[in-house]
Amino acid sequence: MIPLEEAQAAILSAIRRARDTEVVALEQALTRYLAEPLQARVDHPGFDNSMMDGYALNVADARAHDYSLPVVGESSCGDAPKALSSGSAMRIYTGAPLPEGADAVVIQEDVEIVGGRVRVPAETAVGDNIRYRGEDYRKGEALYEPGRRLNPLDLALLGSAGIDKVAVYRRARALVASTGDELVPPGHALAPGQIYESNRLAISAQLRALGVDVVDGGIVADDVNALRAVLARSGEYDFVVTSGGASVGDHDLVKQAFNEIGTIQLWKVRIKPGKPIAFGHIGERTHFFVLPGNPVSSLVTFKFFVEPAVAVWHHAETRVWQLTAVAESAFRRRPGRTEFLRARLRSDRGRLLADPLAGQGSHMVGALRHTNGFIRVEAESEGFSAGDTVTVIPLEF
Ligand code: AMP
Ligand code: MG
Repeated sequence: MIPLEEAQAAILSAIRRARDTEVVALEQALTRYLAEPLQARVDHPGFDNSMMDGYALNVADARAHDYSLPVVGESSCGDAPKALSSGSAMRIYTGAPLPEGADAVVIQEDVEIVGGRVRVPAETAVGDNIRYRGEDYRKGEALYEPGRRLNPLDLALLGSAGIDKVAVYRRARALVASTGDELVPPGHALAPGQIYESNRLAISAQLRALGVDVVDGGIVADDVNALRAVLARSGEYDFVVTSGGASVGDHDLVKQAFNEIGTIQLWKVRIKPGKPIAFGHIGERTHFFVLPGNPVSSLVTFKFFVEPAVAVWHHAETRVWQLTAVAESAFRRRPGRTEFLRARLRSDRGRLLADPLAGQGSHMVGALRHTNGFIRVEAESEGFSAGDTVTVIPLEF
């Protein structure tokens, strides 16, 4: 059995990254991974403009006129205002262009209007309430490097920079299947000994959230021929992710099927839950993961092995956040494997708290309804007490 970090490093260094790219409209770019560096096409702000509703003026001019100026003209959003005429102030609105000659804006709450003149405070200083051209970023400035997975904030920035299309890596294609003679999809009656199947749905949903195109390989019987049939076209996928059949009972079955068509690089990892997990390649293109059948084990192994692999395939950085939190209750155990406890994370007056949930058996899923993170217990640790500092991995879906 190899330790977690070693297994992760081995998997990530064996990923054959995407090569094909395509150009998509910004509207279609959410969750896609950039395949090109991007530069701003415009200055931002594009011109000097007002931060507030108020009056644009020239500070030296205002001083020369004892801080009382007639209001001449107006600058609204979308206008191209005339220059400020000397000895006057101009009405201006938030985001509207600053007229030539003006070097400050006084907000309307701070002026007095007397007979068509504005009286402005003597403290008015050059630069007040002005947003200067290019102070945010400049035309040509590098904004993004390849590999960035675009989120809604990125779309906002790219839109502001005048970018309407982006080159992205092709979406990975994945085949997802569950193995087990006992598995039945929800919606069907259960015969004795059967259970409802849930891994396929969770794995597919997580892959889709990472931007992957998922093909459903269905439920596969614990039978080499059935598995062979499903894997027959596995060379057409970038990832094949199956669950079940990796523990001792069915060990040989999955091993046999994958060995026939590919190479298994790694079989067992020293983590709990999730020990039996296989990774390898089929042909030049396909990476396969055999995740444990226990639903919680499949979730944990997905998070720590499949998710980073998918990111790296798309040239992205892997990013599994590990934070410190204060344990809200104790957890005791025998040392051995690196363990991930389902936990409820919450913040209390700026402190992150983590409560290890009841029902940590790897077959137990009830606690998932309260789970928004994992507590990481190191291999050699015997657990922790309430109030101890623990390492947590927040889950965002
Ligand atoms: P296995 O890895 O096939 O030995 O399965 C371990 C445990 O997980 C067994 O109790 C299986 O019944 C259960 N299991 C396997 N696959 C699934 C699945 N897709 N959904 C829910 N439970 C499963
Ligand atoms: Mg099984």
